[in-house]
Amino acid sequence: MEEEKKKLVTILVPAYNEEEVLHLLYDRLKTLMDNNPKYDFEVLLVNDGSKDKTLQIMQELRQKDKRFCYLNLSRNFGKETAMIAGLDYSKGDAVVIIDADLQDPPELIPEMIKYWEEGYDDIYAKRKTREGETWLKKFTSKMYYKVLQAFTRIEIQKDTGDFRLLDRRCVEALKSIRESQRYTKGLFSWIGYNKKELLYDRDPRAAGQTKWNYGKLINLSIDGITSFTTTPLRWAALIGILVSVVGFIYMLYIIIKTIITGIDVPGYASTMVVILFLGGIQLIFLGVIGEYLGRAFNEGKHRPLYFIDRYNEERENNENLNNRK
Ligand code: UDP
Ligand code: MG
Repeated sequence: MEEEKKKLVTILVPAYNEEEVLHLLYDRLKTLMDNNPKYDFEVLLVNDGSKDKTLQIMQELRQKDKRFCYLNLSRNFGKETAMIAGLDYSKGDAVVIIDADLQDPPELIPEMIKYWEEGYDDIYAKRKTREGETWLKKFTSKMYYKVLQAFTRIEIQKDTGDFRLLDRRCVEALKSIRESQRYTKGLFSWIGYNKKELLYDRDPRAAGQTKWNYGKLINLSIDGITSFTTTPLRWAALIGILVSVVGFIYMLYIIIKTIITGIDVPGYASTMVVILFLGGIQLIFLGVIGEYLGRAFNEGKHRPLYFIDRYNEERENNENLNNRK
């Protein structure tokens, strides 16, 4: 009987300043791959412009084990962009996205593969617990999911990071979306397909520092909302209508009152309050409109999402940039 060709699974790891964990990651992934001989594996390490020895370590790992590939971006583009770069270069029949810091246990991958073989396209890992994260981070993340969900019609998965296995057709779907301000977590939902949830305990970082700060998180949250819904714009109109109706009723009241009781002593304070309040609302919604306009501006430039310095031994010379996907 002819032996069936093994399926290839790509493990995609975006990494930014992760020199402290890469060796640990190597050990865990190597064990995993050696224990699952039914599949071929490719580990695609994406170096997102790290300032430490991350790239050198990736090169060493590749020398030790050719299943490890690496992609070096020309600078730090952020995790969202590092992920799409990795998807563009991944060859697998399925791609597993996993953080470099081992917060997502690689040992979950065989279970993901099992569900993939059963026909699921997107097997995502949902956190049961979040060790090593502050109370404030958990709370803000919970509130954020609530707000985002209230704004959008597509279902965003709660407590789910980017740790998931994607079938090739999901990967192709994600690759076809070339937005520059990406909110991948939303895109996973947006593309649809058969989803399966796996529960897991999220470990604390194995070593090194988190790359997120509140500034970055706030930006990502705003991208999340503005890339998936124009509801805030509609709110502007609704609040405008509401204020106009109230203003109109108040105007009728003043007219009738003036006819009956004559002109009042003009109220300075009340006028100021109304002007300031309405001025504030107008500025807020100018800001909201500006957010969307800014997005349109950025997307309208149609810049490539990233540049590649090198892919394994090959130096990228940008010759094919214009006819790349
Ligand atoms: N990361 C990246 N580019 C960045 C920031 C982060 O590729 O600009 C990677 C990082 O190396 C890690 C993953 O994204 O593999 C998640 O980052 P981190 O662990 O710092 O975030 P947290 O788990 O604290 O949310
Ligand atoms: Mg982490």
